[in-house]
This record gives sequence, structure tokens and C-alpha cells, in this order.
Amino acid sequence: LKLSKVNLHRVLSDIVLLQKNASEGKEVYLQQYFDPSIPPILGDEALLTQLFLNLIKNALEAVEAGGVVKVTSRVLSDYAMTQKGERRARMVAIDIADNGPGIEAEVLENMFTPFFTTKSQGTGLGLAICQKIVSEHRGMIKVDSDAKRGTVFTVMLPLVQ
Ligand code: ADP
Ligand code: MG
Repeated sequence: LKLSKVNLHRVLSDIVLLQKNASEGKEVYLQQYFDPSIPPILGDEALLTQLFLNLIKNALEAVEAGGVVKVTSRVLSDYAMTQKGERRARMVAIDIADNGPGIEAEVLENMFTPFFTTKSQGTGLGLAICQKIVSEHRGMIKVDSDAKRGTVFTVMLPLVQ
């Protein structure tokens, strides 16, 4: 892990810009909503770039033409992170939301397993790598999926002052 102060919004907007250019042709709306109060975090910039690129690519691959992918940053309050009365460090949450078809229960159970894919050209490595990178950063990743609304992957990373 090569740690430095990482500007998450710069990392994310670079990926968004690159993917917008790459997905020219397929009509997809890729939008970003950032909380400007979020300070730099301590992390490995190359790994964090790979993490968010994998998630944003999956979201873009999941939506039909005319679909929407939203990348949002927000601060999680201490309160939201408190379980069983334990105090936890403040965290930043990055949501990657798509309005694709959602994820079936069987896929949800297996998708973090290396080489698990439902795509003809997939490697099945993206989410396994994401999970490793998140845990190396002492963060968490969760997924919320619904056939009507689509899928939201949320990455939570510690904010250390
Ligand atoms: P790959 O993209 O190569 O298939 P991943 O590890 O990135 O491998 O993803 C594993 C599987 O999880 C995908 O094949 C797909 O079935 C499912 N998946 C991941 N992200 C999404 C998403 N945003 N919407 C629907 N399914 C998804
Ligand atoms: Mg993938």
C-alpha cells in the first residue's frame, strides 16, 4: 500500500471523464454529485482509482441505452456509523448507483468470488479486487439492489484528520 493524501473527487471526476469519452456511442448519462466539504483521505491513489473504475464500469455495463449512472460522495456522521454504542471514525461514502436491471439473489451471493461472472467477456475479477482494495483501506463495501430501482454499490472509507 503506497499511502498519500488522495483527493477522491479528482480521482472520481477523472474516471467519469474518461468513461464518458469511452462510452461515446452508447447513450448513457454519467453524473457526479460531490460534497465539497470532504477533505483528502489517506490511501493508495492507484488502487483507489482501480476500485472506482471497476465499479463505474460495472454500472455502465449494467444499464441500457438511456440509462443513468450517478456517482455521489457524502460524509457519514458518527451517529450513522455507531453500532452497539461503539464510536467509529468519521467515514466518507461513495455511492455508484445505476438504473440497470438489478442483481439476482444468486449473483449477489457469488459476485465477490474471483472469476464469478455473468458476462460472456467478463473476467469476474472486478469485484474481488474491489473488496480487497476496500479492506486494505480499512473500509467497507455494500450493495443494495432492486429490480425496479437498480443497483447501488457503496464504498465507505475512513476519514482521518
Ligand atoms: P465482471 O464485470 O468481469 O463480470 P465483476 O467481478 O466486476 O466481474 O462482477 C461480477 C458480476 O457481478 C457481474 O458479472 C455481474 O453479473 C454482477 N454485477 C456487478 N455489478 C453489477 C451492476 N452494477 N449491476 C448488475 N450486475 C452487476
Ligand atoms: Mg466488472
